[in-house]
Amino acid sequence: MAHNIAVERTTAPKKKPEASSLVFGKQFTDHMFIMEYTEGQGWHDMRIVPYQPISLDPAAKVFHYGQTVFEGMKAYKTPGGSALLFRPFKNLQRLNRSNARLSIPPVDEDLAMAALKKLLEIDEDWIPTDEGTSLYIRPFIISTEATLGVSPSESYYFIIILSPVGSYYAEGINPVTIYVESEYVRAVPGGVGNAKTGGNYAAGLKAQEEASGKGYSQVLWLDGVHRKYIEEVGSMNVFFKIAGKVVTPALNGSILDGVTRDSVLQVLKHWGIDVEERAVSIDELVEAYRKGTLEEAFGTGTAAVISPIGELNWRGDKLTLNGGRTGPLSARVYDFMTGIQRGTVEDPFGWIVRLESAVNR
Ligand SMILES: *Cc1c(COP(=O)(O)O)cnc(C)c1O
Repeated sequence: MAHNIAVERTTAPKKKPEASSLVFGKQFTDHMFIMEYTEGQGWHDMRIVPYQPISLDPAAKVFHYGQTVFEGMKAYKTPGGSALLFRPFKNLQRLNRSNARLSIPPVDEDLAMAALKKLLEIDEDWIPTDEGTSLYIRPFIISTEATLGVSPSESYYFIIILSPVGSYYAEGINPVTIYVESEYVRAVPGGVGNAKTGGNYAAGLKAQEEASGKGYSQVLWLDGVHRKYIEEVGSMNVFFKIAGKVVTPALNGSILDGVTRDSVLQVLKHWGIDVEERAVSIDELVEAYRKGTLEEAFGTGTAAVISPIGELNWRGDKLTLNGGRTGPLSARVYDFMTGIQRGTVEDPFGWIVRLESAVNR
């Protein structure tokens, strides 16, 4: 299907940053995609324009009631110079699931893919080429109607911005330390924990700040009802290796259905490793730790791909995993996944979408 996307190119291209100076989410490319939704008219005015500020009425609903969703994915350059996307349709499908939960009208996934593809073609030179670097893609939707009444907005912006990002592990893959949160909760079943929406992050900042103050880089959330089952870490799903088996919390309605999580599950099964998706309690982890069978833990998410966990702090007790070093399974999954993403490892799953063919499913 041909999509009518207007293009206005910048007359003042920015200087591209050095790969070594890239900081996550601080620099943006020359262009962005934007389209608008108006009740009765649907999505319209698809256009690629120079990256620029947007102007909104102070009464726009997004500022007051947080009716907004977002996505996060990456484009990679192969050593041979082609641009690759990793399972982009999974992200667009999830965007629409988040939309449904936040009463935001759906976007046509093929149109969104065509828009992304066109934007990436225009800003292709912004995809960094150094090992470990990529172009982070942030699609998002905000409600723009200027009324303070609490009801779904009648107008929206859908925007895609792009940000070159450096290697997450500048000094090699290093384990993070995690504070298991016992006071605050992030989500409950029936809430919005399984939607990618800003409010989940706003609600988590306080716990994150307190954990940072204690020297921990992230928070591990427990379920909001029993306060005992593992949910996820900050912006990552979480996996544990216990007595040779891998377990990850099942999708219970309050955690995010991560694309990396789903991919890691498939990779582990492909390798013949036993994996279970089920409820995992903090008591089970402590018990396994005491018995010496809590072998490894790692987080999964688009930003870091795999983030090994070196320590869990549970009510002041420090559980050191694999001697605080990256475990062999975490390292193996990291190498395999990042290899597929950069096109240096054969992709047996059909996950890679080449930029040239990104409009074909
Ligand atoms: C985005 C996100 C993840 C990771 O999802 P990926 O699709 O793997 O990037 C996990 N948890 C939360 C809360 C998230 O927002």
